[in-house]
Amino acid sequence: MHSTIMDFPLTLPHLLERAGKLFGKVEITSRLPDKSLHRYSYADFYRRALALAEALQKAGLKKGDRVATLMWNHYAHLEAYFGIPAAGGVLHTLNLRLHPSDIAYIVNHAEDRFLIVDDVLLKLYEAIKPHVKIERVVVVPLTGQPVPAGLENYEDFLKTATGSFSYPKFDENDPVGMCYTSGTTGRPKGVVYSHRSTVLHSLASALPDSLGLSQRDVLLPVVPMFHANAWGLPYTATMVGCKQVYPGPHLDGESLLDLYEREKVTTTAGVPTIWLGIIQALSKEPTRWNLQKGMRMVVGGSAAPESMIRAFDKFGLEVLHAWGMTEMSPLGTVSRLKRNLLEAPEDERYLYRAKQGLPTPLVEVRAVGEKGEAPWDGKTLGELQVRGPWVAAGYYNLQEEADKWTSDGWFRTGDVVNIDAEGYVKIADRTKDLIKSGGEWISSLDLESALMSHPAVKEAAVIAIPHPKWDERPLAAIVLKEGANASAEELKSFLEPKFAKWWLPEAFVFLNEIPRTSTGKFLKSQLRDQYREWKWE
Ligand code: ADP
Repeated sequence: MHSTIMDFPLTLPHLLERAGKLFGKVEITSRLPDKSLHRYSYADFYRRALALAEALQKAGLKKGDRVATLMWNHYAHLEAYFGIPAAGGVLHTLNLRLHPSDIAYIVNHAEDRFLIVDDVLLKLYEAIKPHVKIERVVVVPLTGQPVPAGLENYEDFLKTATGSFSYPKFDENDPVGMCYTSGTTGRPKGVVYSHRSTVLHSLASALPDSLGLSQRDVLLPVVPMFHANAWGLPYTATMVGCKQVYPGPHLDGESLLDLYEREKVTTTAGVPTIWLGIIQALSKEPTRWNLQKGMRMVVGGSAAPESMIRAFDKFGLEVLHAWGMTEMSPLGTVSRLKRNLLEAPEDERYLYRAKQGLPTPLVEVRAVGEKGEAPWDGKTLGELQVRGPWVAAGYYNLQEEADKWTSDGWFRTGDVVNIDAEGYVKIADRTKDLIKSGGEWISSLDLESALMSHPAVKEAAVIAIPHPKWDERPLAAIVLKEGANASAEELKSFLEPKFAKWWLPEAFVFLNEIPRTSTGKFLKSQLRDQYREWKWE
């Protein structure tokens, strides 16, 4: 017997068409480099995304051709998110914070044919230009300055469309886009997403127990559109039809808070570094901004320290902790309290909210240790392995990474976790960041989270350094808040009641800043290199 249901392909044009038909009046706001606001409607976005698709086809784009973007978060990037796949092309977002040589490597590896670039990023393009072969470069005139001779103006490019676009025929497994991992661990590796994976990811991420996005929301993704699909938010938002607000290049606390207030933002998303800036601005002037009560702040990319979740609660803002990876489109888990935990004591609730959370529907998780699959006891550590319809099954043109997948078809995330009896995943570390002292593991994330709850500490990164007796011991790199003071002894005694004695950092260093990756994560490899030769007394 066969089902009698249509075999209806899951494709992006369906989301775009729906948005164009149902949400034409909904607004999309973008902050431009000069801080002015660009406003238009879904109807405009829809028309222009299709114009881009038609213009690309007219320019000779063939199905499967890569179109790179070097852009901040704004309306034209959203047009590229939909217009490039609509034409049958593959959207390849380039991380503008990478070193030009890495960007050039990625462009060449992906064999990008076209590039759409913000005028404010042309200098960066010039730096990669001698090392890449891009056939056609289209410049988005965000500043109103004339586009340099020899390059094409995006607005003129759109005008080459006549309005008679028709979609190519799609299979739901055709590619829509690709992202390279930011290279925190090794050379960037490319992941190619499909129509099907993108549609399913959008559906699952909008669910009430995931990000809970609906057409009544106003969404501001701070997470860059050049990193991990901005967590899929441009697709999810367009699917549900919510108002979208894009911050352009202005990512400091005050600029974001102004935009939250002005546009009545209800949901925003970004890495912990961004939220530290917001906490600082809010703490300085707690009554300056009139924000939407209960605004949801999705935090991912690095662990959200418990102290951060508590701090935002005081301002009536709800932190939603999520975990994901470029290889997972990127959403994997979201930490929302289950019904039976809503009445739990306050400290326990924070404990759960600071975990990375429950896997979303269609994502399966397991923790695998030396003795096989770890029990879900909230203690036993193992490597997190995942599978699901939006999890990568391989990297683009890279055979040697095949050991990232197990023989029974799971993706090895490289994150070390425990899973508790309720199913909440808690990350202890990245495999490479774990500290092994006297044969036992110490979680750097737990220590960092505790240190960051000290009133004088702005940031803390804990790393392993070689030790003659214990193999490795933890060193804590601390950035103090402006004007605040705390000694190593004081911080150590602050940690004492919370951890076994052998967990306590053996050494403390005080820095002005912690080195970061292009996506705002602590660059622990650099710290390890710096302190490798630590002289133990
Ligand atoms: P890269 O691998 O280059 O850092 P990704 O952005 O894909 O690029 O990073 C995914 C990794 O980020 C995860 O494997 C995990 O180590 C880390 N990560 C993401 N979200 C969280 C989180 N909520 N808590 C702790 N770590 C996280």
